[in-house]
Amino acid sequence: DGLLMSELCRPFRMMLLVNPQSGKGQALALYNNHIQRMLNEAGVPHTLVITERQNHARELVREADLSQWDALVIMSGDGLLYEVINGLLERPDWEDAIRTPLGVLPGGSGNALAASIHHYSGASPVSGEELLVSCGFLLCKGLVSRMDLVSIHLSSSPRLFSFLSLAWGFIADVDIESEKYRHIGAVRFTIGTLVRLASLRVYRGKLSYLPAAEDSTNKGDLRNNMMLRCNNQASPSGPASLPCRPSRDFSHQNTSYNSCHSNNSLNVRRTECTSSRSATNALPGPTDSLLLPLDQPLPSDWVVGQEEDFVLMLAMYQSHLAEDLLAAPDATLDDGIIHLFYIKAGISRIALLRLLLAMEKGAHLATNCQHLVHTKVRALRLEPCSPKGIITVDGEVVQYGPVQAEVHRGLARLISG
Ligand code: ADP
Ligand code: MG
Repeated sequence: DGLLMSELCRPFRMMLLVNPQSGKGQALALYNNHIQRMLNEAGVPHTLVITERQNHARELVREADLSQWDALVIMSGDGLLYEVINGLLERPDWEDAIRTPLGVLPGGSGNALAASIHHYSGASPVSGEELLVSCGFLLCKGLVSRMDLVSIHLSSSPRLFSFLSLAWGFIADVDIESEKYRHIGAVRFTIGTLVRLASLRVYRGKLSYLPAAEDSTNKGDLRNNMMLRCNNQASPSGPASLPCRPSRDFSHQNTSYNSCHSNNSLNVRRTECTSSRSATNALPGPTDSLLLPLDQPLPSDWVVGQEEDFVLMLAMYQSHLAEDLLAAPDATLDDGIIHLFYIKAGISRIALLRLLLAMEKGAHLATNCQHLVHTKVRALRLEPCSPKGIITVDGEVVQYGPVQAEVHRGLARLISG
């Protein structure tokens, strides 16, 4: 029983980073009203750190003595976890640092990872303070799972790491344009969507990807494949109890940045793996063995797209895009898969609205919309042709231009149900 196992390991030492400006600006009040007592009653000692500005958490985590902490937990939106993950992967000891168990308490306006772990726990959908309480309980249980991360390459900025999404077009525009309504909480996405729908436009570009399996659009097949792979793994990726001291055992590392040599279903040629290594070797973080430099043509095992008009491109690695948007219903924490969705130009406003409304329950894939494509990939490259635009990573704006991504299976650790 997970509860017993984690209780045996108490107390674990938790750093709780709270962003007082996130969401409606109520994260501290939510902490005082719900979380403080919950953690105390569960016997989880924690040190509260109130973030003072953007990148404060990133810098703090980059410099921290991680031997002092058994878990780093954020209470904010997804933006603060994005900082923590990137801070950990900027460290010279990244390989060790990224195994620090992370946790999320929803206090922002975009709480997609919190909604995802609540969904994975099997509980029925909730939002707002109910979601916070649910995540508080999951945190107190202290079960640690692996979580996929995706490395993101842009043409002229350092490599980034993403735990949630890469978006271009409609969804990226809504996310950023609606930031000005942050004070109204998650409703900002609904308002932003209606505004954007009224001025619907298309985005020209090229989208290419490396399929995850032999074009398996059949969910059953893919699940079976993944189960087989899980069974073949040297170490299981399922939940483990939170250790009193973080395990620093390198031997159980089997994440996908070794995928050139691993037993997954991809037939990646060794030459391609090695030729890309020089691109990232000098910096901390895992090697991207599936990617070539952005200005080079793609390997022959990729599906290479032609220039066309899109309404949106959305790459998801967890189930929820927002508290009430179940964008990738069959995604799991560490399936090692990028769930790629795109909508081609030509879709009517009403059909797009229907899709977005269906997404609330994860029913958009069942609408059989001819313009929506869903495919499972390990890596992708997007080359936008429109001169200006918005690309987001985990809901944060990044440099606009060509971008490519590769999934690293189970690279991080997350306290989840
Ligand atoms: P939300 O879901 O409300 O957007 P986020 O967690 O995404 O919440 O936080 C939004 C941004 O606020 C992040 O980019 C983070 O770096 C920044 N931030 C953190 N602490 C502060 C602070 N004290 N004042 C202003 N911004 C902050
Ligand atoms: Mg945010």
